[in-house]
Amino acid sequence: MDIKPGELRCPRCFKRDIVPSLPRGILDSLMKMRHRIPRHCRACGNRFYVAEEKVRALSV
Ligand SMILES: [Zn+2]
Repeated sequence: MDIKPGELRCPRCFKRDIVPSLPRGILDSLMKMRHRIPRHCRACGNRFYVAEEKVRALSV
């Protein structure tokens, strides 16, 4: 398993099958203010937060 730095991976299973998760609830609002975006791993179902600038840099 080779993990390149800066690559967006699930922190639990380290797969790259990551999809955007719709923000919901007060926690997501708080995280949004701290520039954290919810993401969802389709491989293991894990939900986690990614730094906004990191997502932006990777999706361009
Ligand atoms: Zn996962």
